[in-house]
Amino acid sequence: MPKMQLKQESRLNGVKTNIFNIEDVAHHLRVPSKAIVKYMCAELGANMEQTSIIKGKHTYDVLLKHLDKFIERYVLCKQCHYPELQRFLEGKGELKSRCNSCGKSNSHDSMHQAGKVLVNFLKTGGTGVQDITEKDKVDASDDEEEEKDSEPKEKKEKKEKKEKKEKKDKKDKKATVE
Ligand SMILES: [Zn+2]
Repeated sequence: MPKMQLKQESRLNGVKTNIFNIEDVAHHLRVPSKAIVKYMCAELGANMEQTSIIKGKHTYDVLLKHLDKFIERYVLCKQCHYPELQRFLEGKGELKSRCNSCGKSNSHDSMHQAGKVLVNFLKTGGTGVQDITEKDKVDASDDEEEEKDSEPKEKKEKKEKKEKKEKKDKKDKKATVE
């Protein structure tokens, strides 16, 4: 992967960080560059300007950390860690992928800014899409999203609570051992 080339630009309205070869990096990762920049902006709480500029001064190390995280979340297979994902949409716009290397099905965060970019990219016929049928396209309308979200969220919260409790139990156990 090409190294990110950064340029700090200072204008009247403040400092900005331009990743001027973001297109190269994105091309190598086979994702739209917007997904990467949006990812970084969301994580940094910064605004995006044009296609390659993040407002504020950001160091290479910090941006690289976020790039790595983006790659981990959207580019690499969660099982074999190869960048062999075929991304596609399932149901009403959930970002999924299938690994060409090991065959595992992966789910990705569709609600993150970067996930939304990838979902839109696929919806508008971007590469990496696995046959979207006409039916899927209709189902992908935003109308029902809210209704759909409410149920799993409750479930998720329950799960998180349970996990927290388990963690706590573990911790308690550990404390006792020590
Ligand atoms: Zn895999």
